Amino acid sequence: MIVAIDGPSGTGKSSTSKAVAAKLGLSYLDTGAQYRAITWWMITNGVDVDDADAVASAAGKPTIVSGTDPSHPTITVDGVDAAGPIRTQEVTSKVSAVSAVPEVRERITELQRSIAASAGQGIVVEGRDIGTTVLPDADLKIFLTASPEARAARRSGELKGADVHATREALIKRDAADSSRKTSPLAKADDAVEVDTTDLTLQQVIECVVTLVEE
Ligand code: C5P
Repeated sequence: MIVAIDGPSGTGKSSTSKAVAAKLGLSYLDTGAQYRAITWWMITNGVDVDDADAVASAAGKPTIVSGTDPSHPTITVDGVDAAGPIRTQEVTSKVSAVSAVPEVRERITELQRSIAASAGQGIVVEGRDIGTTVLPDADLKIFLTASPEARAARRSGELKGADVHATREALIKRDAADSSRKTSPLAKADDAVEVDTTDLTLQQVIECVVTLVEE
């Protein structure tokens, strides 16, 4: 069973994907964490992330390993725990530029496919291009949406008191960059089920996805 969950930031993808995977005994992969990890490596190794050629040449260098237990997902870069550093504001503001570089996408997509292929019981994979590009034969594809206001409010809550207006602007900017890049942009697959989470609780979204998996 392969479940692809795509959508913009702040729609509840991570919380939903982890909970659904745990409930159904599946593995879980956060593909955004992988793009964040390679971005963090570029920053810490002095690669100019606005120079696409420099990013492309360095794309094969770091070793990124994702742990797929939904109750304890992990990510390491060259053996170093990167779970904390990949969530900084600096990484968040630069990840769209790095993930738009085709060599980065090729490398990370290959990694994602090999993780999905070796997941015994199946896997829930969350991201932006899973249903369209990474795993187009997934058994179930979900595309989560929510109003910009709801997404910004959720993100500000996660960031403990961050300014909602500034968060909303940053989210809109990142989604626009992710949706307009040439290689595998953020997009809904034609055969994905769209779930608008604006007025739903997390529990309701989880139940909705579990029901779709079990159908
Ligand atoms: O999901 P998260 O917000 O952590 O993703 C961080 C960034 O990683 C996204 O804004 C996007 O630029 C990139 N990403 C991507 N393709 C994916 C998952 C994430 O380009 N499948």
